[in-house]
Amino acid sequence: MCRHAAWLGPARSLASLVSDPEHGLLRQSYAPRLQRYGIVNADGFGFGWYDAALPEPVRYRRAVPMWADANMPGLAAAARSSCLLAAVRSATTGMPVEETATAPFADGRWLLSHNGRVRREAVRPLVTGVEADPESACDSAWLAAAVFARLRVGVPLADALSLVVREAAEGDRHARLNLLVTGGAEVAAVAWGDTLFTHLEEGVLVSSEPLDDRPGWRPVPDRSLLLASPDGVAVTPID
Ligand code: GLN
Repeated sequence: MCRHAAWLGPARSLASLVSDPEHGLLRQSYAPRLQRYGIVNADGFGFGWYDAALPEPVRYRRAVPMWADANMPGLAAAARSSCLLAAVRSATTGMPVEETATAPFADGRWLLSHNGRVRREAVRPLVTGVEADPESACDSAWLAAAVFARLRVGVPLADALSLVVREAAEGDRHARLNLLVTGGAEVAAVAWGDTLFTHLEEGVLVSSEPLDDRPGWRPVPDRSLLLASPDGVAVTPID
């Protein structure tokens, strides 16, 4: 189970998710506190962020441990945005370890990260008959393609996520489907089989596990969908 985190609010650096907080994703890459599946997240990492001057988000992904990339601290300190997403990966057994299997997956303005695992056969019906083109054989890339295919034809984000999660869980009762998706102006997250937390400040932090020990981290109930926008945060059950 990987770990992921996002920020929506006044512009901050990626370091605010990764290395500034005591238990940011850098620390979580080798010493996560709440991880139930996997011990370290050393199979890759990725960043995605939005720059008002660019039509699409910027992505940086590597198939190496976050701590092994000497350029990462400088990049994380310099990259600032009102919308950030970062992830560290512990590859599921049988999944390829490669850059294209590493979150965030992207399509146009959308970025997506997945914590969990799902049988690809359960996702196959969601990527056949639609314009979907998984970047990698990794289960997460298939889930991303299933979500992106629906967003591309204008399905609202909340509906696309609930539909894909419900169908994938139908096909694989043991699927773990924590998803984090952003289009730059909003952040949506699914809690399905693993932990998810939020912290409200002048914006909102959404994270697999708390990034620090400040008070105010709130768990998101399992099997629910969180939608964060400048108007606030709403959590609804997925049933
Ligand atoms: N199944 C995905 C992968 O192999 C995600 C793994 C995870 O959450 N640890 O990358």
